[in-house]
Amino acid sequence: MTPHAVSLAAPLAATAALAAGGGLLQAAHWPASRLYGSALIAPARPGEIALTFDDGPNPRWTPQLLEILARHNARATFFLIGKYAALQKPLVRQMRQSGHTLANHTWTHPNLAFTGNRKTREELLRTQQELESILGEPIRFFRPPFGARRPFTLRCARSLGLTPVLWNAMAADWQATRVDQVAPRLTHLIQRNQQRGVASNVVLHDGGQHSLEVDRSASVAAAATLLQKFTPTHHFVPLDDWQPQASEDRACS
Ligand SMILES: [Zn+2]
Repeated sequence: MTPHAVSLAAPLAATAALAAGGGLLQAAHWPASRLYGSALIAPARPGEIALTFDDGPNPRWTPQLLEILARHNARATFFLIGKYAALQKPLVRQMRQSGHTLANHTWTHPNLAFTGNRKTREELLRTQQELESILGEPIRFFRPPFGARRPFTLRCARSLGLTPVLWNAMAADWQATRVDQVAPRLTHLIQRNQQRGVASNVVLHDGGQHSLEVDRSASVAAAATLLQKFTPTHHFVPLDDWQPQASEDRACS
């Protein structure tokens, strides 16, 4: 089945109209926005769920997550903050050896909608080099922090061999203190996506942009709840299974 990527480029007239109404700011952050180029969200495979975890690695919570995923024989994708990965190399290797896909989430987690070209490239490239040095293999996926991007952001990612990734199921787990603030909402979104005929690309957080060992008990418990609930009916897949066709957009200067 052909993977689905949200595709490109609204007409210029529409862009101008949106700019007049402040729509460009929304386009820079809204996951399903089509204004700023293609990004992988989810293919038309309603029986599949990609669990994705952002902002780690987290030496306190990521190992617990690895145990839970292993219990369900599930593979996931982790979007790592480069500066944390550099401090936790054995854990990063353990994550990969556990069968999960590791991906680029920038070095310091800036808002790339407001980051200049040179700094954007540094953030992506430094993380890419660090992860590839730790793991000895190419890194293929990139998620912009906050989903924030502009056209250069995605061009730059592609020039480094990275597929930009957004999501279609999120529940503000980074603010949650209890699993019931997260799991019911994600369950609803997964079921909604299934009814719409698409897979679910679920965002949770095993880390946090402000500190290395932030409490992610609610997020980890939510992951366990989703695995328990959906394992009988769905396949949990890493993003490699949804790899879109290669982009021809290679300019990053
Ligand atoms: Zn993040």
